[in-house]
This record gives sequence, C-alpha cells and structure tokens, in this order.
Amino acid sequence: MFDEKSINALRKMTESFGPSGFERETARVIKEYMTDYSDNILTDKLGSVVFVAKGSSERPHVLLAGHIDEVGFVVSGIDESTGFLSFNPLGGWWDQVLLSQRVIVRTEKGDLHGVIAAKPPHLLTDEERQKVVEKRNMYIDIGVTSGKEAVEAGVKIGDPVIPWSPFMLARNGEVAMGKAFDDRIGAFVMMETMRRIKEDNIGHPNTIYGAATVQEEVGARGAQTVAHIVDPDVAIVIEVDIAGDVPGIKPSEAPTKMGKGPSLCTYDSSMIPNQPLKEFVIKTAREADIPLQLSQVARGGTDAGRIHLNRAGCPSVVIGIPTRHIHSHVGMLSLNDVENAVKLMIELVKRLDADTVNSFISI
Ligand SMILES: [Zn+2]
Repeated sequence: MFDEKSINALRKMTESFGPSGFERETARVIKEYMTDYSDNILTDKLGSVVFVAKGSSERPHVLLAGHIDEVGFVVSGIDESTGFLSFNPLGGWWDQVLLSQRVIVRTEKGDLHGVIAAKPPHLLTDEERQKVVEKRNMYIDIGVTSGKEAVEAGVKIGDPVIPWSPFMLARNGEVAMGKAFDDRIGAFVMMETMRRIKEDNIGHPNTIYGAATVQEEVGARGAQTVAHIVDPDVAIVIEVDIAGDVPGIKPSEAPTKMGKGPSLCTYDSSMIPNQPLKEFVIKTAREADIPLQLSQVARGGTDAGRIHLNRAGCPSVVIGIPTRHIHSHVGMLSLNDVENAVKLMIELVKRLDADTVNSFISI
C-alpha cells in the first residue's frame, strides 16, 4: 500500500490549483515528485509534462497518461453594484452541485475565498423553489460590497476559480475523499507505477513515457500534443470511472463498484479499444491475480479518444478507478482500487515488449 510520501503527494496534488488551462502549479508539484524517478523529462507547449523511464529496449514507446486539469470556472463579469462575480464553467458542471459551495478565485493579488450563491429560498415563489437554479443565475460572493472593491481586491475577467475542498481519508485510511480525483488519481497511478519500477529496479522491455496531460476537461487537448511528442506504440490512459454503486444507478448504466478493483473500459463515446490489447489486459490481471472490473461509459470520453488516433493510430485502453461523485467538490474512491491499478500497470509494463505490441496490430 501507499507510504506517507505517496499519500502526501496525493494530498498536495489534489489540493493544488489547476483547472483546465491553468495547470502550472499542479504540474510543478508532480514534476518535483517525479524528478527522482525519471531518466528524462519532456514537455509539450500546452503545459503537459512527460516523465521518461528507459528499459532494456528503446521501442516500444509505452505511454501511461493521466490528466491533471480539474473542472473549475473562469470569472466572466463583476457586478458593479454588489461585487458579486459571474462565471463560466471550465469543464462539465451539474448546476445542482454548485450552490453554497466554497471556491478559490486566483487573482494577480493572490487567492480569494468565496462561496457560490443565488437569490435565497426565502425570497423565491413556491414555483421557483421547485426548480433547479441554473449556473447563469448564480454568483460567486467574495465578501465585498461593490464592484470597485472586487477590482481593488485583484479580481478581473478571466481569473480562474476552483472548488475549495480539502483531501481527507475515511474508513481507516481505505477511502479517500476530495476534489480533482478526475483525473489526478490517474496521474498518481502513473507516478506510483514509475516510482516502484525505479525503486524496486523492475525490468521492462520498452521505454515508459508517463504523461501528466492538460486540458482534458475541455476536449482532451493536451492528449493530442503529448501523443505528438511521445509517438507512442501503445497507450494506457488511467481515468476515473463512474462508480455505479450509488442508489438509483442501474448496473447496466455503470457496472463498476468502488472497492472491487480497477476497471477496464470496453467502450465509451470517444474510443473502442484495441481488442487484442483489451484481451491482453484481462489476461494479465488474471495471471497476476489482480481484481479487474469491466466497464462501459456510454456518454463521455477520455484522453485515449485522441491518443488512439495519433498518426496512423495507437493501440490504447483506459484503466479506471471507480469513483463516486465526480465533477463535484467531493469525489470518493478506494485506495485499494488505486493500489491494484498500480500493480496492474507494473505487470502490463513488464510484458509490453516489441513482439507483444506488434501482435496488437497484426492482421
Ligand atoms: Zn477525466
């Protein structure tokens, strides 16, 4: 399981400030951790970072990728009379999870704390109270009393905003709660895989490219530029999976459960995985006695949607961590699933030699 250094890194990563397009702080936290475990560090020109670990053979290039941006907001206006801030979403937000939540607004004069607010229920008509308040009728209250005060505090249009939500452990350290698991938990799996390979001197017949990609939540943009610099022969994207063990979800809508192992996505709207690679993952998990759940996500895509279309194509799969309540202030996941995902990644990387990777694309 994870030692204190790992858990502290996870805490620091998830609490760091990094909505889509503003990931630099998060990227630095990860780079600092990964420097000891990398033979080389590459960057694209969008802000993604790639950590390279050399094995016994230059090819195949094995890309392990997790995106480090989180869903957030940008300030779209400052109300002149009240100083309340209007905002646009960065990534997908469900209006219902926003009201009364705390946020951090990053300005040129420093971070400001605020809360997302709307007209209070006491002043709504009975009919209005039955409806979900929409984002466009919500504002960020930073505690000022005029637009002038907000501007003096440093706020300007375009400033980024993130949820405020401290990381914490529950269930005797088995369950983690916090923001930005989508998808810093994927980047964390990549980091722990590379750390153990380095520390335990685990041999691998390939070169590993561990990528922390940016701007996934606004259209998998960093995945495209990372694929360009890595030129992968095979790719494993690690993502959150939607845990289906929440009341009201049918098993056919989201088949995976928190705590029952990492998942393998068999289909989503951005990619049908390479089938021999998919079977290879299932076989490897079985051989190594690692629990693996099969998943489908009918709506939604991942970085793999871009990566598998790089150049002439790249065999790709998505390994998921079943996570409850994604795209909200507090996600919840099992660290046992994360541990099993790391173990699975190590077993896969050990087996991905040139012949195996060639077998994924031979007709
Ligand atoms: Zn994601």
